[in-house]
Amino acid sequence: MEESVVYSSMKKLLLIPTLFWACFVFSQKTIIYCGRLIDPKAGEVLTEMSVIVAGNSIVEVKKGYIAAAAGDKTIDLKNRTVMPGLIDSHVHLESEFGQNAQLKRFTDGTADIAFQSTVYAKTTLMAGFTTVRDVGGTGVNIALRNAIRRGIVVGPHMLTAGKIISSTGGHGDPTHGYRDGLYTEPSFTETVVDGKDACIKAVRQMYKEGADLIKITASGGVLSLEKDGSGAQFSDEELRAIVATAKDYGMAVAAHAHGAEAIKRAIRAGVTSIEHGTFMDDEGMALMKQYGTWYVPTIIAGKSVADSAKKPGFFPPVIAGKALAIGPTLQATFGKAYKAGVKIAFGTDAGVYAHGKNWMEFVYMTEAGMPALEAIKCATVNASELLGLSDKTGTIEPGKWADIIAVEGDPTKDIHAMGQVRFVMKEGVVYKNE
Ligand SMILES: [Zn+2]
Repeated sequence: MEESVVYSSMKKLLLIPTLFWACFVFSQKTIIYCGRLIDPKAGEVLTEMSVIVAGNSIVEVKKGYIAAAAGDKTIDLKNRTVMPGLIDSHVHLESEFGQNAQLKRFTDGTADIAFQSTVYAKTTLMAGFTTVRDVGGTGVNIALRNAIRRGIVVGPHMLTAGKIISSTGGHGDPTHGYRDGLYTEPSFTETVVDGKDACIKAVRQMYKEGADLIKITASGGVLSLEKDGSGAQFSDEELRAIVATAKDYGMAVAAHAHGAEAIKRAIRAGVTSIEHGTFMDDEGMALMKQYGTWYVPTIIAGKSVADSAKKPGFFPPVIAGKALAIGPTLQATFGKAYKAGVKIAFGTDAGVYAHGKNWMEFVYMTEAGMPALEAIKCATVNASELLGLSDKTGTIEPGKWADIIAVEGDPTKDIHAMGQVRFVMKEGVVYKNE
Protein backbone atom coordinates (compact mmCIF):
# COMPACT_ATOMS: atom_id res chain seq x y z
CA MET A 1 0.00 0.00 0.00
CA GLU A 2 2.71 2.45 1.10
CA GLU A 3 4.83 1.50 -1.83
CA SER A 4 2.12 2.42 -4.28
CA VAL A 5 1.66 5.86 -2.62
CA VAL A 6 5.39 6.52 -3.01
CA TYR A 7 5.23 5.33 -6.62
CA SER A 8 2.29 7.54 -7.45
CA SER A 9 3.92 10.70 -6.01
CA MET A 10 7.10 9.84 -7.94
CA LYS A 11 5.02 9.68 -11.08
CA LYS A 12 3.60 13.14 -10.34
CA LEU A 13 7.11 14.55 -9.94
CA LEU A 14 8.16 13.02 -13.24
CA LEU A 15 5.13 14.52 -14.94
CA ILE A 16 6.24 18.13 -14.29
CA PRO A 17 9.37 18.11 -16.52
CA THR A 18 7.50 16.05 -19.14
CA LEU A 19 4.76 18.68 -19.35
CA PHE A 20 7.37 21.44 -19.54
CA TRP A 21 9.07 19.82 -22.53
CA ALA A 22 5.75 19.03 -24.21
CA CYS A 23 4.73 22.73 -23.98
CA PHE A 24 8.11 23.80 -25.29
CA VAL A 25 7.96 21.44 -28.28
CA PHE A 26 4.41 22.49 -29.09
CA SER A 27 5.14 26.21 -28.99
CA GLN A 28 8.21 25.85 -31.20
CA LYS A 29 7.24 26.69 -34.76
CA THR A 30 8.85 26.19 -38.11
CA ILE A 31 8.33 28.99 -40.62
CA ILE A 32 8.77 28.05 -44.26
CA TYR A 33 9.48 30.98 -46.58
CA CYS A 34 8.03 30.14 -50.01
CA GLY A 35 9.13 32.12 -53.09
CA ARG A 36 6.23 30.62 -55.00
CA LEU A 37 3.42 28.68 -53.36
CA ILE A 38 0.99 26.64 -55.42
CA ASP A 39 -2.60 26.60 -54.21
CA PRO A 40 -4.02 23.77 -56.32
CA LYS A 41 -7.56 24.26 -55.00
CA ALA A 42 -7.74 27.87 -56.22
CA GLY A 43 -5.54 27.08 -59.24
CA GLU A 44 -3.15 29.91 -58.29
CA VAL A 45 0.55 30.48 -57.77
CA LEU A 46 1.09 32.86 -54.82
CA THR A 47 4.42 34.64 -54.27
CA GLU A 48 6.38 35.49 -51.11
CA MET A 49 4.38 33.45 -48.61
CA SER A 50 5.08 32.01 -45.16
CA VAL A 51 3.77 28.63 -44.08
CA ILE A 52 3.87 28.06 -40.33
CA VAL A 53 4.18 24.50 -39.03
CA ALA A 54 3.87 23.29 -35.43
CA GLY A 55 4.28 19.64 -34.52
CA ASN A 56 2.93 17.55 -37.40
CA SER A 57 0.47 20.16 -38.71
CA ILE A 58 0.18 23.38 -40.64
CA VAL A 59 -1.06 26.14 -38.31
CA GLU A 60 -1.02 29.25 -40.51
CA VAL A 61 -0.39 30.49 -44.06
CA LYS A 62 0.52 34.18 -44.32
CA LYS A 63 1.32 36.67 -47.05
CA GLY A 64 4.93 37.94 -46.96
CA TYR A 65 7.98 36.63 -45.11
CA ILE A 66 6.93 36.99 -41.48
CA ALA A 67 9.49 37.54 -38.72
CA ALA A 68 10.47 34.53 -36.61
CA ALA A 69 10.04 34.69 -32.84
CA ALA A 70 12.81 33.52 -30.51
CA GLY A 71 13.06 29.74 -30.67
CA ASP A 72 11.30 29.44 -34.03
CA LYS A 73 13.01 27.57 -36.86
CA THR A 74 13.02 28.94 -40.39
CA ILE A 75 13.36 27.13 -43.73
CA ASP A 76 14.33 29.22 -46.75
CA LEU A 77 12.56 28.10 -49.93
CA LYS A 78 12.50 31.61 -51.47
CA ASN A 79 14.03 30.25 -54.67
CA ARG A 80 11.67 27.29 -54.93
CA THR A 81 8.11 26.48 -55.91
CA VAL A 82 6.34 25.04 -52.88
CA MET A 83 3.22 22.88 -53.06
CA PRO A 84 1.31 20.28 -51.05
CA GLY A 85 2.94 16.85 -50.82
CA LEU A 86 2.00 14.84 -53.91
CA ILE A 87 -0.30 11.82 -53.87
CA ASP A 88 -0.01 8.82 -56.19
CA SER A 89 -3.29 6.87 -56.16
CA HIS A 90 -1.91 3.82 -57.96
CA VAL A 91 1.41 2.28 -56.92
CA HIS A 92 2.79 -1.18 -56.20
CA LEU A 93 5.50 -0.65 -53.58
CA GLU A 94 6.40 -4.34 -53.24
CA SER A 95 8.08 -4.73 -56.59
CA GLU A 96 9.59 -3.22 -59.68
CA PHE A 97 8.88 -4.91 -62.99
CA GLY A 98 11.85 -6.12 -64.99
CA GLN A 99 12.83 -8.73 -67.54
CA ASN A 100 12.95 -11.49 -64.91
CA ALA A 101 9.52 -10.88 -63.41
CA GLN A 102 8.35 -14.46 -63.97
CA LEU A 103 11.56 -15.97 -62.56
CA LYS A 104 11.42 -13.75 -59.48
CA ARG A 105 8.19 -15.46 -58.49
CA PHE A 106 10.33 -18.53 -57.78
CA THR A 107 13.35 -16.88 -56.21
CA ASP A 108 12.02 -14.06 -54.01
CA GLY A 109 10.47 -14.88 -50.67
CA THR A 110 8.39 -12.68 -48.41
CA ALA A 111 11.43 -11.26 -46.63
CA ASP A 112 13.09 -10.37 -49.96
CA ILE A 113 9.94 -8.55 -51.04
CA ALA A 114 9.76 -6.75 -47.69
CA PHE A 115 13.34 -5.48 -47.85
CA GLN A 116 12.88 -4.28 -51.43
CA SER A 117 9.63 -2.54 -50.58
CA THR A 118 11.32 -0.39 -47.92
CA VAL A 119 13.71 0.95 -50.59
CA TYR A 120 10.85 1.73 -53.01
CA ALA A 121 8.89 3.44 -50.24
CA LYS A 122 11.80 5.74 -49.44
CA THR A 123 12.46 6.47 -53.13
CA THR A 124 8.81 7.43 -53.56
CA LEU A 125 8.83 9.81 -50.59
CA MET A 126 12.05 11.46 -51.78
CA ALA A 127 10.40 12.04 -55.18
CA GLY A 128 7.88 14.27 -53.40
CA PHE A 129 5.05 11.77 -52.96
CA THR A 130 4.05 12.06 -49.32
CA THR A 131 0.98 9.82 -49.73
CA VAL A 132 0.34 6.74 -51.87
CA ARG A 133 -2.37 4.17 -52.41
CA ASP A 134 -0.90 0.71 -52.96
CA VAL A 135 -3.30 -1.21 -55.19
CA GLY A 136 -2.09 -4.71 -54.72
CA GLY A 137 0.69 -7.15 -53.99
CA THR A 138 1.31 -10.20 -51.84
CA GLY A 139 0.13 -8.65 -48.58
CA VAL A 140 3.61 -7.46 -47.57
CA ASN A 141 2.23 -4.00 -48.44
CA ILE A 142 0.09 -4.18 -45.28
CA ALA A 143 3.18 -4.82 -43.12
CA LEU A 144 5.00 -2.04 -44.97
CA ARG A 145 2.18 0.41 -44.24
CA ASN A 146 2.29 -0.56 -40.57
CA ALA A 147 6.08 -0.20 -40.40
CA ILE A 148 5.89 3.29 -41.93
CA ARG A 149 3.17 4.29 -39.47
CA ARG A 150 5.31 3.05 -36.57
CA GLY A 151 8.26 5.06 -37.85
CA ILE A 152 10.41 1.94 -38.43
CA VAL A 153 10.58 2.52 -42.20
CA VAL A 154 10.88 5.83 -44.08
CA GLY A 155 8.07 6.17 -46.59
CA PRO A 156 4.92 8.04 -47.58
CA HIS A 157 1.54 7.88 -45.85
CA MET A 158 0.11 4.71 -47.29
CA LEU A 159 -3.25 3.13 -47.91
CA THR A 160 -3.16 -0.40 -49.22
CA ALA A 161 -5.46 -2.89 -50.91
CA GLY A 162 -3.43 -5.86 -49.67
CA LYS A 163 -3.99 -8.56 -52.32
CA ILE A 164 -5.90 -8.07 -55.54
CA ILE A 165 -9.27 -9.82 -55.87
CA SER A 166 -9.45 -11.66 -59.20
CA SER A 167 -11.48 -14.37 -60.90
CA THR A 168 -9.92 -17.73 -61.80
CA GLY A 169 -7.59 -17.20 -64.74
CA GLY A 170 -8.07 -13.46 -64.38
CA HIS A 171 -5.45 -10.74 -64.41
CA GLY A 172 -4.85 -11.06 -60.67
CA ASP A 173 -4.69 -14.88 -60.59
CA PRO A 174 -1.00 -15.38 -59.77
CA THR A 175 -0.99 -18.97 -61.04
CA HIS A 176 -2.22 -18.23 -64.57
CA GLY A 177 0.32 -19.18 -67.20
CA TYR A 178 2.28 -21.61 -65.04
CA ARG A 179 2.21 -25.35 -65.58
CA ASP A 180 -0.44 -27.48 -63.99
CA GLY A 181 0.40 -28.88 -60.57
CA LEU A 182 3.02 -26.27 -59.75
CA TYR A 183 0.72 -24.49 -57.32
CA THR A 184 -2.08 -25.67 -55.13
CA GLU A 185 -5.45 -24.32 -56.20
CA PRO A 186 -5.23 -20.54 -56.46
CA SER A 187 -7.66 -19.94 -53.64
CA PHE A 188 -4.48 -20.13 -51.54
CA THR A 189 -4.32 -16.38 -51.85
CA GLU A 190 -7.92 -16.19 -50.58
CA THR A 191 -8.54 -13.65 -53.29
CA VAL A 192 -8.94 -15.71 -56.49
CA VAL A 193 -12.68 -16.14 -56.45
CA ASP A 194 -15.68 -17.13 -58.54
CA GLY A 195 -19.32 -16.54 -57.69
CA LYS A 196 -21.05 -14.11 -55.41
CA ASP A 197 -20.33 -15.86 -52.10
CA ALA A 198 -16.63 -16.26 -52.76
CA CYS A 199 -16.44 -12.57 -53.71
CA ILE A 200 -18.04 -11.58 -50.41
CA LYS A 201 -15.60 -13.85 -48.55
CA ALA A 202 -12.59 -12.32 -50.32
CA VAL A 203 -13.59 -8.77 -49.39
CA ARG A 204 -14.05 -9.81 -45.77
CA GLN A 205 -10.73 -11.66 -45.85
CA MET A 206 -8.93 -8.50 -47.01
CA TYR A 207 -10.65 -6.51 -44.29
CA LYS A 208 -9.46 -9.09 -41.76
CA GLU A 209 -5.87 -8.92 -43.03
CA GLY A 210 -5.85 -5.15 -42.64
CA ALA A 211 -6.47 -3.72 -46.12
CA ASP A 212 -7.70 -0.12 -46.35
CA LEU A 213 -9.50 -0.61 -49.66
CA ILE A 214 -10.41 -3.31 -52.16
CA LYS A 215 -8.73 -3.73 -55.54
CA ILE A 216 -10.28 -5.92 -58.21
CA THR A 217 -9.28 -6.88 -61.74
CA ALA A 218 -12.52 -6.21 -63.61
CA SER A 219 -10.84 -6.98 -66.94
CA GLY A 220 -7.79 -8.77 -68.27
CA GLY A 221 -4.44 -7.00 -68.03
CA VAL A 222 -1.11 -6.53 -69.76
CA LEU A 223 1.55 -8.02 -67.50
CA SER A 224 -0.11 -11.35 -66.65
CA LEU A 225 0.47 -14.50 -68.70
CA GLU A 226 -3.09 -14.55 -70.06
CA LYS A 227 -3.97 -14.08 -73.69
CA ASP A 228 -6.72 -11.47 -73.32
CA GLY A 229 -5.86 -8.08 -71.87
CA SER A 230 -9.20 -6.32 -71.96
CA GLY A 231 -12.22 -8.64 -71.65
CA ALA A 232 -14.58 -8.49 -68.65
CA GLN A 233 -13.62 -10.95 -65.88
CA PHE A 234 -16.36 -10.53 -63.29
CA SER A 235 -20.11 -10.83 -63.78
CA ASP A 236 -22.51 -8.03 -62.76
CA GLU A 237 -23.63 -10.12 -59.80
CA GLU A 238 -20.05 -10.66 -58.58
CA LEU A 239 -19.20 -6.98 -58.95
CA ARG A 240 -22.30 -5.89 -57.04
CA ALA A 241 -21.48 -8.34 -54.23
CA ILE A 242 -17.91 -6.98 -53.98
CA VAL A 243 -19.01 -3.33 -53.90
CA ALA A 244 -21.85 -3.91 -51.40
CA THR A 245 -19.59 -5.87 -49.04
CA ALA A 246 -16.77 -3.33 -49.29
CA LYS A 247 -19.27 -0.58 -48.50
CA ASP A 248 -20.36 -2.43 -45.35
CA TYR A 249 -16.76 -2.38 -44.16
CA GLY A 250 -16.14 1.24 -45.12
CA MET A 251 -13.79 0.38 -47.95
CA ALA A 252 -13.56 1.91 -51.43
CA VAL A 253 -13.24 -0.35 -54.50
CA ALA A 254 -10.59 0.35 -57.13
CA ALA A 255 -11.28 -1.51 -60.38
CA HIS A 256 -8.50 -2.31 -62.83
CA ALA A 257 -10.25 -2.25 -66.23
CA HIS A 258 -9.06 -1.87 -69.83
CA GLY A 259 -12.00 -2.97 -72.00
CA ALA A 260 -15.13 -0.84 -72.58
CA GLU A 261 -17.58 -3.49 -71.32
CA ALA A 262 -15.57 -4.25 -68.17
CA ILE A 263 -15.35 -0.51 -67.44
CA LYS A 264 -19.11 -0.01 -67.80
CA ARG A 265 -19.99 -3.04 -65.67
CA ALA A 266 -17.71 -1.82 -62.90
CA ILE A 267 -19.12 1.73 -62.96
CA ARG A 268 -22.71 0.46 -62.86
CA ALA A 269 -21.84 -1.81 -59.93
CA GLY A 270 -20.70 1.30 -58.05
CA VAL A 271 -16.90 1.02 -57.85
CA THR A 272 -15.06 4.10 -56.53
CA SER A 273 -12.44 4.35 -59.28
CA ILE A 274 -11.54 2.94 -62.68
CA GLU A 275 -7.82 2.28 -63.00
CA HIS A 276 -6.22 2.59 -66.51
CA GLY A 277 -9.60 2.70 -68.34
CA THR A 278 -7.78 2.26 -71.63
CA PHE A 279 -10.67 1.57 -74.00
CA MET A 280 -13.25 3.75 -72.24
CA ASP A 281 -15.78 4.85 -74.87
CA ASP A 282 -18.15 7.83 -74.92
CA GLU A 283 -20.86 5.88 -73.10
CA GLY A 284 -18.30 4.86 -70.45
CA MET A 285 -17.28 8.50 -69.96
CA ALA A 286 -20.90 9.57 -69.62
CA LEU A 287 -21.44 6.82 -67.01
CA MET A 288 -18.33 7.93 -65.09
CA LYS A 289 -19.86 11.41 -64.80
CA GLN A 290 -23.31 10.09 -63.94
CA TYR A 291 -21.98 7.85 -61.14
CA GLY A 292 -19.24 10.26 -59.98
CA THR A 293 -16.62 7.55 -60.56
CA TRP A 294 -12.96 8.58 -60.36
CA TYR A 295 -10.59 7.93 -63.24
CA VAL A 296 -6.97 7.02 -62.40
CA PRO A 297 -5.25 6.98 -65.79
CA THR A 298 -1.63 5.66 -65.28
CA ILE A 299 -0.42 6.93 -68.69
CA ILE A 300 3.23 6.32 -67.79
CA ALA A 301 2.57 2.61 -67.26
CA GLY A 302 1.11 2.30 -70.75
CA LYS A 303 4.07 4.14 -72.28
CA SER A 304 6.59 2.12 -70.28
CA VAL A 305 5.22 -1.33 -71.15
CA ALA A 306 4.95 -0.37 -74.84
CA ASP A 307 8.61 0.76 -74.80
CA SER A 308 9.77 -2.44 -73.08
CA ALA A 309 7.78 -4.55 -75.57
CA LYS A 310 9.94 -3.18 -78.39
CA LYS A 311 13.07 -4.67 -76.79
CA PRO A 312 13.47 -8.23 -78.13
CA GLY A 313 12.96 -10.86 -75.43
CA PHE A 314 12.01 -8.37 -72.69
CA PHE A 315 8.51 -9.82 -72.33
CA PRO A 316 7.18 -13.31 -73.17
CA PRO A 317 5.37 -12.98 -76.55
CA VAL A 318 1.89 -13.16 -74.95
CA ILE A 319 2.67 -10.06 -72.87
CA ALA A 320 4.54 -8.16 -75.60
CA GLY A 321 1.54 -8.29 -77.95
CA LYS A 322 -0.81 -6.91 -75.32
CA ALA A 323 1.67 -4.21 -74.24
CA LEU A 324 1.87 -2.91 -77.81
CA ALA A 325 -1.92 -2.97 -78.25
CA ILE A 326 -2.92 -1.44 -74.92
CA GLY A 327 -0.01 0.77 -73.80
CA PRO A 328 -0.04 3.59 -76.36
CA THR A 329 -3.85 4.09 -76.18
CA LEU A 330 -3.97 5.38 -72.61
CA GLN A 331 -2.77 8.94 -73.21
CA ALA A 332 -5.44 9.65 -75.86
CA THR A 333 -8.17 8.18 -73.63
CA PHE A 334 -6.98 10.36 -70.76
CA GLY A 335 -7.14 13.47 -73.01
CA LYS A 336 -10.70 12.62 -74.09
CA ALA A 337 -11.86 11.87 -70.53
CA TYR A 338 -10.41 15.17 -69.28
CA LYS A 339 -12.21 17.12 -72.01
CA ALA A 340 -15.43 15.21 -71.27
CA GLY A 341 -15.26 16.37 -67.63
CA VAL A 342 -14.57 13.01 -65.96
CA LYS A 343 -13.18 13.33 -62.38
CA ILE A 344 -9.46 12.51 -62.51
CA ALA A 345 -7.07 11.52 -59.71
CA PHE A 346 -3.35 11.18 -60.33
CA GLY A 347 -2.03 7.61 -60.41
CA THR A 348 0.91 6.02 -62.19
CA ASP A 349 1.21 2.24 -61.58
CA ALA A 350 4.72 2.77 -60.10
CA GLY A 351 6.40 -0.63 -59.94
CA VAL A 352 5.39 -1.34 -63.53
CA TYR A 353 8.08 1.28 -64.30
CA ALA A 354 10.93 2.42 -61.97
CA HIS A 355 9.82 3.87 -58.61
CA GLY A 356 10.66 7.57 -58.23
CA LYS A 357 9.83 8.45 -61.83
CA ASN A 358 6.17 9.05 -60.89
CA TRP A 359 6.55 12.72 -61.88
CA MET A 360 6.75 11.76 -65.58
CA GLU A 361 2.97 11.30 -65.44
CA PHE A 362 2.68 15.12 -65.12
CA VAL A 363 4.56 15.47 -68.43
CA TYR A 364 2.20 13.02 -70.17
CA MET A 365 -0.91 14.65 -68.67
CA THR A 366 0.10 18.11 -69.89
CA GLU A 367 1.07 16.67 -73.30
CA ALA A 368 -2.52 15.45 -73.60
CA GLY A 369 -3.91 18.93 -73.00
CA MET A 370 -4.29 19.31 -69.24
CA PRO A 371 -2.80 22.54 -67.79
CA ALA A 372 0.03 22.05 -65.24
CA LEU A 373 -1.95 23.47 -62.31
CA GLU A 374 -4.83 21.12 -63.10
CA ALA A 375 -2.46 18.12 -63.20
CA ILE A 376 -1.03 19.16 -59.81
CA LYS A 377 -4.61 19.45 -58.52
CA CYS A 378 -5.22 15.84 -59.65
CA ALA A 379 -2.17 14.78 -57.57
CA THR A 380 -3.17 16.74 -54.46
CA VAL A 381 -6.77 17.94 -53.93
CA ASN A 382 -8.42 15.29 -56.14
CA ALA A 383 -6.32 12.33 -55.02
CA SER A 384 -6.83 13.22 -51.34
CA GLU A 385 -10.57 13.16 -51.99
CA LEU A 386 -10.39 9.76 -53.71
CA LEU A 387 -8.36 8.38 -50.79
CA GLY A 388 -10.77 9.85 -48.21
CA LEU A 389 -7.94 11.95 -46.76
CA SER A 390 -9.02 15.45 -47.76
CA ASP A 391 -9.25 16.55 -44.12
CA LYS A 392 -5.59 15.52 -43.63
CA THR A 393 -3.65 16.28 -46.79
CA GLY A 394 -3.89 17.60 -50.37
CA THR A 395 -3.70 21.34 -49.60
CA ILE A 396 -1.52 23.67 -47.53
CA GLU A 397 -4.13 24.85 -45.06
CA PRO A 398 -4.29 25.18 -41.25
CA GLY A 399 -5.16 21.90 -39.57
CA LYS A 400 -3.78 19.65 -42.31
CA TRP A 401 -0.71 17.46 -41.94
CA ALA A 402 2.45 19.41 -42.73
CA ASP A 403 3.03 17.47 -45.97
CA ILE A 404 4.91 20.02 -48.04
CA ILE A 405 7.34 19.75 -50.94
CA ALA A 406 9.31 22.17 -53.10
CA VAL A 407 10.77 21.89 -56.58
CA GLU A 408 13.44 23.83 -58.41
CA GLY A 409 11.96 25.95 -61.19
CA ASP A 410 8.34 26.69 -61.97
CA PRO A 411 6.22 23.72 -63.13
CA THR A 412 3.62 26.09 -64.61
CA LYS A 413 6.32 27.23 -67.07
CA ASP A 414 8.12 23.90 -67.53
CA ILE A 415 6.42 20.78 -66.17
CA HIS A 416 9.79 18.97 -66.00
CA ALA A 417 10.34 20.95 -62.76
CA MET A 418 8.20 18.24 -61.11
CA GLY A 419 11.25 15.96 -61.46
CA GLN A 420 13.45 18.45 -59.55
CA VAL A 421 12.16 17.87 -56.01
CA ARG A 422 14.50 19.62 -53.55
CA PHE A 423 12.48 19.65 -50.33
CA VAL A 424 10.23 17.05 -48.72
CA MET A 425 8.41 17.43 -45.40
CA LYS A 426 5.98 14.79 -44.16
CA GLU A 427 3.96 15.50 -41.02
CA GLY A 428 6.37 18.26 -40.05
CA VAL A 429 9.52 16.12 -40.40
CA VAL A 430 12.03 17.20 -43.07
CA TYR A 431 13.25 14.23 -45.13
CA LYS A 432 15.01 16.19 -47.86
CA ASN A 433 16.32 19.77 -48.08
CA GLU A 434 18.86 20.39 -50.81
ZN1 LIG B 1 -1.44 -1.49 -61.14
